[in-house]
Amino acid sequence: MGRRVPDDFADFSKYLGSGVKALFSFRSGGDMKDSANMEAFARRHFAGALPVYAKQSHGTVLKEADIQTPSPQPDVDVLVTLDRNVVLLIFTADCIPVYFYDEQASFAGIIHAGWRGVSKNIIISTMDSIEKKYPLRMSSLKTVLGPGICRRHFEVSEELAHVFPEIYVKEKKGKKFVDLKLIIKQQLESSGVKHQNIHDSGLCSFEEGNIFSYRRDKTPERGCAFIRLLSGQAPSPSILEGFVV
Ligand SMILES: [Zn+2]
Repeated sequence: MGRRVPDDFADFSKYLGSGVKALFSFRSGGDMKDSANMEAFARRHFAGALPVYAKQSHGTVLKEADIQTPSPQPDVDVLVTLDRNVVLLIFTADCIPVYFYDEQASFAGIIHAGWRGVSKNIIISTMDSIEKKYPLRMSSLKTVLGPGICRRHFEVSEELAHVFPEIYVKEKKGKKFVDLKLIIKQQLESSGVKHQNIHDSGLCSFEEGNIFSYRRDKTPERGCAFIRLLSGQAPSPSILEGFVV
């Protein structure tokens, strides 16, 4: 008897902890910028939770979401929550979604980390602000780098190469490549996240045909990183009514 293997998403929950559910939708799960499709996916995997998402602008603004948070949040690229009534969404096609979770604080979030955000130090600014604002310890924070473009496929112009420190730029046959995932991992560590608490999914959006890639297909379609707390603030049925998908 064959094991049933889901083919329209990857599940990263186990790298974060038992109190959280973290998925990434594949291309076979359809375009997540299509609201009806996104809501159906959210209903299937995060029943009873309100999807909260942003109009991502490759900036570094962080927004804490709860059941009252309307979507889309303008100019937001980091979503965090303490509320298990919501599921947070970050759309990507080559950019790298960075999931994080602290079990003690029952606190979760996702960063939209593309080259623009990374060049603006979105990882460091996010880690700084959550450490200041929430009762969590960086030493217990768990993180996952979801699917995104790898160093072999992120070819950049001469001009763009100069945006990043030289150690992250490799040259091959006169072309330049940037290792965004390495920058993210090193910045997480320098922010106090333990090496063993950083899991790299190892999935490259450009290589994996079942993941949306803007570089490969020039598509407006997007996959989506989802995260939801499974414990924490209790649902309040009166507020939930009429809200949840
Ligand atoms: Zn690749």
